[in-house]
Amino acid sequence: MQNLLNFNQPQLAEYFVGLGEKPFRAKQLMRWMHHFGVNDFTRMTDIAKTLREKLQIEAEITPPTVQLEQVSDDGTRKWLIGTDTANSIETVFIPEDDRGTLCISSQVGCALECTFCSTGRQGFNRNLSVAEIIGQLWVANHSLRQADGYNMLPPSERIISNVVMMGMGEPLANYDNVVTAMQIMLDDSAYGLSRRRVTLSTSGLVNAMDKLKEDCPVALAVSLHAPNDALRDVLVPINKKYPIKDLMAACERYLVKAPRDFVTFEYVMLDGVNDTVEHAHQLLDIVKNVPCKFNLIPFNPFPDSGYETSKPSHIRVFRDILMNAGYVVTVRKTRGEDIDAACGQLAGKVLDKTKRTLKRQIHIEAVA
Ligand code: SF4
Repeated sequence: MQNLLNFNQPQLAEYFVGLGEKPFRAKQLMRWMHHFGVNDFTRMTDIAKTLREKLQIEAEITPPTVQLEQVSDDGTRKWLIGTDTANSIETVFIPEDDRGTLCISSQVGCALECTFCSTGRQGFNRNLSVAEIIGQLWVANHSLRQADGYNMLPPSERIISNVVMMGMGEPLANYDNVVTAMQIMLDDSAYGLSRRRVTLSTSGLVNAMDKLKEDCPVALAVSLHAPNDALRDVLVPINKKYPIKDLMAACERYLVKAPRDFVTFEYVMLDGVNDTVEHAHQLLDIVKNVPCKFNLIPFNPFPDSGYETSKPSHIRVFRDILMNAGYVVTVRKTRGEDIDAACGQLAGKVLDKTKRTLKRQIHIEAVA
């Protein structure tokens, strides 16, 4: 059985041609699957009965299974989504006054092992399929619509207005599947999100960033977290392969494709590690050629992390140095802390296949 959630519209058109059908069927299917969230072929009333019967034999629309749904006191929702019997990932919805943001995972675990990151500590199992990535949006839409008392919503009433690829995993290490899933997010027949409302966050896989700007130039966020190579080598070890100078050059190249855009630099605030006045000035120096804004993220501790959250007074001083230099700076509010849904806390369940250092190194080299 072919799971049709794995296809973007051109791939679905090819699939229909293979079945001896007209390619325009793809558009109809995309609308039913993604726009209306229907996974029962018998309900797709504008599709000929004979084709619906054929699809019931040949295909399926199977989203991943929700194992647990939790709702925080502040309205944040988290889904634990099973990807197979041994592994699960997490997806988080953050409601705000003017938007609803879904944070999506791209891998089971992560091979990159940033030292402040709970996911990185768990090792790596595998890449998610397209169906498992876009399925998180499918599942979240479904659940939020039900919670809101709707089965189907008119297109103008989007509960999820923004998607960030910032959950478990390094999205650019699962390049093909992530790009296909994002193409579905942008497709007017599916979710119809604008390019600027889909943000991909990377730790800095420079080669893949260059490819992304050609294939699907969504908004770009970079997990920077340190203002010099010596410190970034420790906090974000991929920096040893792609040092800050190369990363900044890649950011500049990315924006050539979208000159009205900017890069968001994410910077986790770790007490006494990367949060001094000197660090702030170093940061200003390394980003000087990149149109950007900053998102400062107070560290969310997890067991045995070895790090502490920066003191609020230090965060204020750090923020003011950046703001006084003319940059837009936001300090991320912690959301969903009571259900472990805050930034950096996503854990899921990962059957670690990495055999640690040796396998991790092979994976990084393969995707870079
Ligand atoms: S911060 Fe991102 S890239 Fe680094 S280990 Fe965590 S999930 Fe992986």
